[in-house]
Amino acid sequence: DTDFSGIKERTLVAVKPDGVQRRLIGDVIKRLEQRGFRLVGLKMLQASDKLLAQHYVSLQKKPFYASLLYYMTSGPVVAMVWEGHNVVRSTRMLVGSTDPAEAALGTIRGDFSVHVSRNVVHASDSVEGAEREISLWFQRSELIDWEGCDHKNIYH
Ligand code: ADP
Ligand code: MG
Repeated sequence: DTDFSGIKERTLVAVKPDGVQRRLIGDVIKRLEQRGFRLVGLKMLQASDKLLAQHYVSLQKKPFYASLLYYMTSGPVVAMVWEGHNVVRSTRMLVGSTDPAEAALGTIRGDFSVHVSRNVVHASDSVEGAEREISLWFQRSELIDWEGCDHKNIYH
């Protein structure tokens, strides 16, 4: 029997304000959908300083922290939760390196951005980090439980 135990893994992806303003929401969603991941939550919001301070708590001491918060509050973001086998690691690969100059062509950052301070998209970097971030950005009631719905085409 094939082991499908990992298919419930979830990650937080956000199209950052530059991505929204540059009309890249659809491109980001398209790449995650065509890979085979499942969307379980989606909303557009103006992120607050409070939310971002929690989201980026580990970066508080970085020299770019203030400009990062300015950037992330400069317009609406599209926050999403995606689910699937190895979704955290695979989404990081799909998004590409933090600095677009290092990001491979074919990745979102490699294809759509040039500077680390405007790199279009966020993706959680670990399963534990994803759980923490998802609980910051979404209520449990905002996430869909696909159990028994349409996942048969990909995993069964
Ligand atoms: P990632 O988003 O790839 O997980 P980090 O968690 O290290 O990267 O950093 C979070 C975000 O902070 C980056 O996506 C980027 O927007 C911003 N950032 C990181 N490093 C720099 C930098 N040297 N200068 C400006 N902004 C940065
Ligand atoms: Mg990070």
